Amino acid sequence: MSSIVDGHWVGPVVDQHIHLDRSNRYLSAIEEFVRVGGTGIMLVHKPGFSGSLPLDKEGYRRAYSETISMADEVREKFAITVGVVIGPHPVAWERQISELGIDQASELHLESVDLALELIEQGKAHCLGEVGRPHYEVSEETWTKANENLSQIMAEAAISKVPIQLHVEDAGSQTYSEISQMAVQAGLPLSQTIRHYAPPNVSSDFTYGLACTVSVGRGSVEGLVSTYANASASWGMETDFLDDSRRPGAVLGPKTIPKRTDELCSALLAESNPNDVENLLFKIHSEWPSKLYGIEF
Ligand SMILES: [Zn+2]
Repeated sequence: MSSIVDGHWVGPVVDQHIHLDRSNRYLSAIEEFVRVGGTGIMLVHKPGFSGSLPLDKEGYRRAYSETISMADEVREKFAITVGVVIGPHPVAWERQISELGIDQASELHLESVDLALELIEQGKAHCLGEVGRPHYEVSEETWTKANENLSQIMAEAAISKVPIQLHVEDAGSQTYSEISQMAVQAGLPLSQTIRHYAPPNVSSDFTYGLACTVSVGRGSVEGLVSTYANASASWGMETDFLDDSRRPGAVLGPKTIPKRTDELCSALLAESNPNDVENLLFKIHSEWPSKLYGIEF
């Protein structure tokens, strides 16, 4: 049962985009998350940017099975819900070009999407991601190919009826506008096209009806409070915790979602009745992610 007790949210709290690494904080990061009220995560495949990237399909198979086995361990160790997100990172593809050439890198990229979809079909994972396009400036040839690949990936996800978490550049509503057009063309429902690392504006005139998981950094609660009433699609929260000792401050820490949920709860209570606040928090942390990923949060 979820409810608000003494002004605090007592109910599900889900981080929809978190990476883990056995050689870094790994289980201790989850322990911290659970200790402050976390109840569920979407564990996202961590590309080995600091080591070597897979150069063949078998490399991807090993990387995905690593993510899947970490999810099993987290479930065993903590009584939380763990969904798995696997897929080839667009930045990995862009880096593989220098070693493989653009055609072979793209072939490997699409093959590793097929592999991810197979594993999702088998019930070992629940979402394709993070897929998308580089978030930094690239050559025109690379940009065109990235978009071709993404359109193809969206079409395959649509056929498999699988939701996707998208890694894209941050060009405000322009990004949303382009991505939503591509999704519509590919036959992928906007409700299953989830923009990851989204800014704290969930209003539909900004998101073009795409689902999103908001990076809830400091100050994000204000943005959510002023836009949530105009949201047409589901949205959630994420840290994009990287579990990387080389980039400790690059992303939000494991305690952020419980903390920010509590902040959101207080801010909403100041202007709405407790029943409505309860309903919204339950949607964010249970109803919407359960529906998106097909598992019970
Ligand atoms: Zn990520």
